Amino acid sequence: MTSFMLFIASSFASTNQIVIAHRGASGYLPEHTLEAKVLAYAMKPNYIEQDVVMTKDDKLVILHDRYLDRVTDVATKYSGRARKDGRYYVIDFTLKEIRTLNVTEGFNVAPDGKQTAIFPNRFPIWKSHFTVPTFSEEIELIQGLNKTLGYNIGIYPEIKAAWFYRHEGKDISKAILSVLKTYGYISKDSNIYLQCFDALELKRIHDELLPAMGMDLKLVQLMAYTDWNETMLYSKEGSTVYSYDWMFKDDGMKKVAEYADAIGPWKPMLVDEASTRDNIIIKPLMQKAREAGLGIHVYTFRAEPEKIPAYAKDYDDMLDIFYNQVKVDGIFTDYPNKAVKFLAK
Ligand code: CA
Repeated sequence: MTSFMLFIASSFASTNQIVIAHRGASGYLPEHTLEAKVLAYAMKPNYIEQDVVMTKDDKLVILHDRYLDRVTDVATKYSGRARKDGRYYVIDFTLKEIRTLNVTEGFNVAPDGKQTAIFPNRFPIWKSHFTVPTFSEEIELIQGLNKTLGYNIGIYPEIKAAWFYRHEGKDISKAILSVLKTYGYISKDSNIYLQCFDALELKRIHDELLPAMGMDLKLVQLMAYTDWNETMLYSKEGSTVYSYDWMFKDDGMKKVAEYADAIGPWKPMLVDEASTRDNIIIKPLMQKAREAGLGIHVYTFRAEPEKIPAYAKDYDDMLDIFYNQVKVDGIFTDYPNKAVKFLAK
């Protein structure tokens, strides 16, 4: 490669920075509702995110948690249907049952039963009427808007807790890929990134499922710290926590690049929390991912003052640090309009 080509290659990366609407325009409307997706669409991000979980009758629906209780009225409509841990699992309800639920902004429940919004300044809880969409409905919505408005906005589905569904005897990845194939997302050129925290599952998708289905999609390895207990491993002896430690070792990114196209790290994995505005400390992971040829799509950018790291003045400043100093390829944000506006400047 000549130095001129190298220059082109590096400037290409920075001029193609993207915005991913995290759970839709979730800063403004209840996350993962079709309404939040329409609003996100109007803000013209590059991608709109879907978190995909599976029902008792094997239908794919869009919800962030594998539980229904943080964003719906399941506890009143179906009291007594919680598991021992007090949670109402999507996998224990049919699509028909889930259709009866009202969706709202995320809330916490105090011991006395009082509900409080997790984000008090967002859309008020229990106002208007929202429901849980299926994966197909959401794809049809985005593809339909691509037709009527003429933009080309992509989808960014996440396979949630594949390890959990595997343990429950369900192959959620295969079901998701089959829907994607139906809607024409089949090659690396298709307007989609497919993301997953479960590295074993993402490898299985890359090595087995995609070739068997005649597909080849851009894959994103989401990153967690082991002590988050994000992913579990089951064996006859019981369950253990999956260790993410290998990803942070010297050859970690090289190993990820064998099956994935990009990583989805958490902000503090790229920028040290001890940074100050005059001294942004970029962690080695950034360079290692670059050297391995991986794209870097970092999560999650929220505009609430308490969600802005101490080293940034405000939301735009945080974007400036990540897009222009760290030079990530993309960000997940609850406020896609603000990020689109920032990049347009
Ligand atoms: Ca997600």
